[in-house]
Amino acid sequence: MTQQFSRRNFLATSTRTGLAAMLVGAAPTVLVASDASVDGKPALLGGTAMNKTSYSRWPILHGEEEKFLLEVLKSGQWFRGSGQNRVGQFENEYATMCGAKACIATSSGTSALVASLAALDIGPGDEVITSPYTFIATINSIIAHYALPVPIDVDLDSFQLDGKLADAACNDNTRCLMPVHIGGAPANMDDFLAVGKKRGIRVIEDACQAHIGQWRGKKLGAVGDAGCFSFQVSKNLSSGEGGAVLTNDEELAEKVYRCHNNCRGRKTDSFDFTYGVGRAVNQRMTEFQGAVLCAQIKHIEKYQETRNENGLYLNKLLAEIPGVLPAKIYDGGVSAWHLYMFRIDAEKFGINRDLFLKALSAERISCSSGYGAVDWIGFVRNAYDTPAGKRIYPKPVIDQWAERVGQFPQFKKLCSQAVWFTQNMMLGPRENMDIIADAIRRIQKNAAEIAKLDS
Ligand SMILES: *Cc1c(COP(=O)(O)O)cnc(C)c1O
Repeated sequence: MTQQFSRRNFLATSTRTGLAAMLVGAAPTVLVASDASVDGKPALLGGTAMNKTSYSRWPILHGEEEKFLLEVLKSGQWFRGSGQNRVGQFENEYATMCGAKACIATSSGTSALVASLAALDIGPGDEVITSPYTFIATINSIIAHYALPVPIDVDLDSFQLDGKLADAACNDNTRCLMPVHIGGAPANMDDFLAVGKKRGIRVIEDACQAHIGQWRGKKLGAVGDAGCFSFQVSKNLSSGEGGAVLTNDEELAEKVYRCHNNCRGRKTDSFDFTYGVGRAVNQRMTEFQGAVLCAQIKHIEKYQETRNENGLYLNKLLAEIPGVLPAKIYDGGVSAWHLYMFRIDAEKFGINRDLFLKALSAERISCSSGYGAVDWIGFVRNAYDTPAGKRIYPKPVIDQWAERVGQFPQFKKLCSQAVWFTQNMMLGPRENMDIIADAIRRIQKNAAEIAKLDS
């Protein structure tokens, strides 16, 4: 069975090793080499696994999380309110770190996306161009406004949506481009910014996986008109749940703030009871989340450096193995390495991706197949199969949309070839990358033998 780093087996593991172990702030030890040789028999065929443990520690506590949380708890100021607060402190620090003029913290990454689209007045009949290869929240944030997602196909080599297809997918209803920096690696922002400029439409980055990744020297999320982040526990910067919007447009920042705060504006000295914008709800971050983030943010740059060194090193090692294709990072881009992503070309490697995952799991290297090939057309049709949905999009309208967005052959191929490692696996010492590469090399060398298991 494929060993995935799911929330469930993480909890099972952490309970077994004792929760106290999680409180130790030591560097994460992810993999431990066994005495197995790369020339030996693969674990799936009865050999010794290359890795002795697959325990992956995340999130990492450094001590201050507990202190800051208790301060909030005892102060009674559990909501950001006015005056000094942890959420406001975090907003300032994150905006500065990313070189953005403004940051608005939210309750989740999904709410950051929803608030941004609300601030752009996106509504029924509007179209938003985005990626089919993404977490479902991207699509849901568009549907939440009764707008139409228009997924375009991906660039197989990079895993990112193909910016070259964006212009042709636009029509008079297109109101927003929403590139997703999948895995934390940048989408080709040059392409999206050019189409945005040419057509006078806004670009919102779904940077929920891309904390402090870069595009041509700018931090991701601060490149387009706005960028949205998630601080859900799996993400590279985390408070369990949480999110943020970055923008350099002060007018948009004010609107996003109102949209996430029941129409009320930002005031530091008192409460604002002027109701400036419609269609807003409460999507505020709590002080508890702010407290954890103020502690966690101090460590993200150091972790990013480690992930980047390990990621680039592993790219080099894996590129030498026949049939292994590390996700390409565009020139001018630095990945945040939320995921380490590569593809298995079955013909060149010798076995298909699914059998590969079994063999790699047997070597005790945690891995997963990533996103499945979701039928987005069916998903959107279903979402609008309601009285309100049918009023906005009667059958001929939704049929026309379905025909226009068409098929995504590269996306489907990607879903059948992709392999993911989680970001915490990139935090160990460099030798961990050698263990991973050795395990994959051993599987590839013995691919013909392993393939017999499938017949
Ligand atoms: C995590 C994620 C989101 C949503 O974030 P939540 O904080 O879970 O709401 C949106 N888009 C992408 C690409 C994500 O990975």
